[in-house]
Amino acid sequence: MADLAAVERQGVVYARPAEYARWWDEMVTACHCQPKTPLGVIAWYTLRPGMDHKFPCGVERCVGWWWETDQVFIAQGYTQLEWLVKHEMLHAILHDGTHRHRLFHRDLSQGGVAAPLSQQSVLSRTSH
Ligand SMILES: [Zn+2]
Repeated sequence: MADLAAVERQGVVYARPAEYARWWDEMVTACHCQPKTPLGVIAWYTLRPGMDHKFPCGVERCVGWWWETDQVFIAQGYTQLEWLVKHEMLHAILHDGTHRHRLFHRDLSQGGVAAPLSQQSVLSRTSH
């Protein structure tokens, strides 16, 4: 299981990029659901330089991690990666760390947020 305190110590809060609002709206539309959390309350963290994507996420390596305290952690260099940010957004919208929702099993071209196969082997994938 991940250690939230350890990740927080490695993380730096960053200002939400402008396109996140559009990505959020696209995910809300795609899932036909009422967000359990407003976008504005989510705290976005990236890791300090040199930490790469070594989140203590418990399952291989992760480049993104949603936590139920409305905190999202994105590895440095990945904060503009649409499928990854949307993947974490969907966890926040559903307030659910599982991957049961159908959109977790479709790729971005199908409106979903599954890790692209070509990146899956290189980056592993998001755990949460
Ligand atoms: Zn996930």
